[in-house]
Amino acid sequence: MLLSVLIPFYNEEHQVPATLGTVREVMEGIGLPFELVCLDDGSSDATWARLREAAAADPRIRGIRFSRNFGKEAAICAALDAARGDACVLMDGDLQHPPSVIPEMVRLWRDEGYEVIDGVKRSRGRESLSSRLNASLFYKTFRRLTGYDLHNASDFKLLDRKVVDRWRGFREHDTFFRGLSAWLGFRRAEVPFEVAERRTGTSKWSPLKLLRLSVAAITSFSSVPLHAITILGTLLILGSVALGIQTLVNWAGGQAADGFTTVILLLLLIGGAIMVSLGLIGVYIARIFDEVKGRPRYVVAEETDGGDT
Ligand code: UDP
Ligand code: MG
Repeated sequence: MLLSVLIPFYNEEHQVPATLGTVREVMEGIGLPFELVCLDDGSSDATWARLREAAAADPRIRGIRFSRNFGKEAAICAALDAARGDACVLMDGDLQHPPSVIPEMVRLWRDEGYEVIDGVKRSRGRESLSSRLNASLFYKTFRRLTGYDLHNASDFKLLDRKVVDRWRGFREHDTFFRGLSAWLGFRRAEVPFEVAERRTGTSKWSPLKLLRLSVAAITSFSSVPLHAITILGTLLILGSVALGIQTLVNWAGGQAADGFTTVILLLLLIGGAIMVSLGLIGVYIARIFDEVKGRPRYVVAEETDGGDT
């Protein structure tokens, strides 16, 4: 029996030794053979050098380096592809997902037969007001549109080999790990955890990256926005029929108002609605385009265990 711990790192040179040390200690405490699969997501600092040193000193540590920054979702895919364990624990590289929770996850998996153990945030830790508001807006929209409540969900999870193999069968290019793992089902348990403070560096998510992830998440799980366009269009048509009848009646009665204001307002409103709707359709078409191209999700530049690709 082998446990894999999968950790993505992006520009975390100061964090790598601390994270690997802590995780290794916790894993040794469990007493099962394990491997640490560390993914360098195209860092521009010394993260890869730190990972190579760690891998050279301990054969249980494996490093994989992307050819550039492909983002955390791609890093998760690559780590799940590379893992050899019978269970895979996925966690952040900044120790914000406390490794002390791993033994409980492993116990639920090994003794109680759960196949997916979700780490659930007890609170969101210390965060700025704006990121709290953005997260809350995103999760509310996501739940409304898709029916999945991922409110306190995190990427801190244990997955059984069966689940990992199913996941790897997905051909979807733009993944949303949290959502897809909820979609997969299987016997699930939850383990609450307290989000720890980040000790070195800063969050690697720029507002733009977060926006892209949110759009990818919603468009991959829901086509409601497209139907919303149809509904909006129908409402506009109903409104214009009513307005048309009124206008004709007024005209027949010989009291057609010189309604320049109305015309301008209607033009702006309808023009805006059409532009937004076209843009939205464009987002979905772009997604189809990306998926159809069928490019690999990531490109590996090198691996510490020899597998240069
Ligand atoms: N990360 C990554 N690629 C990226 C952005 C982030 O591999 O493009 C990693 C990062 O190194 C960390 C984890 O994903 O291990 C979570 O990122 P971060 O702590 O910045 O996110 P937050 O905790 O603010 O949600
Ligand atoms: Mg973090």
